[in-house]
Amino acid sequence: MDASHIECRVNRHSWRPEDAWREGSVFVQTQRCPRCDAARSQVIDARTGMVRRTTYAYPAGYLNTGGGRATRESIGKMRLALVRSLARRSL
Ligand SMILES: [Zn+2]
Repeated sequence: MDASHIECRVNRHSWRPEDAWREGSVFVQTQRCPRCDAARSQVIDARTGMVRRTTYAYPAGYLNTGGGRATRESIGKMRLALVRSLARRSL
């Protein structure tokens, strides 16, 4: 398992703006997570700011982190692995 994938699964992505442009009545905004390299694209209503559609692109292997679909239980196990490694470092 890639450590950056586990960290993003547990703590969520750290989205950073990448690009944005206008297409008629909407803005398209692209963002990237510097930790795991996932990408997010949002279509935003130019009048209201409401997000109309969001699409994601994940790096290879990300969706299989933890062995299949991420459940609360599997994320709990990943969180334990992270906090245990941090606790050892602080001893
Ligand atoms: Zn990420």
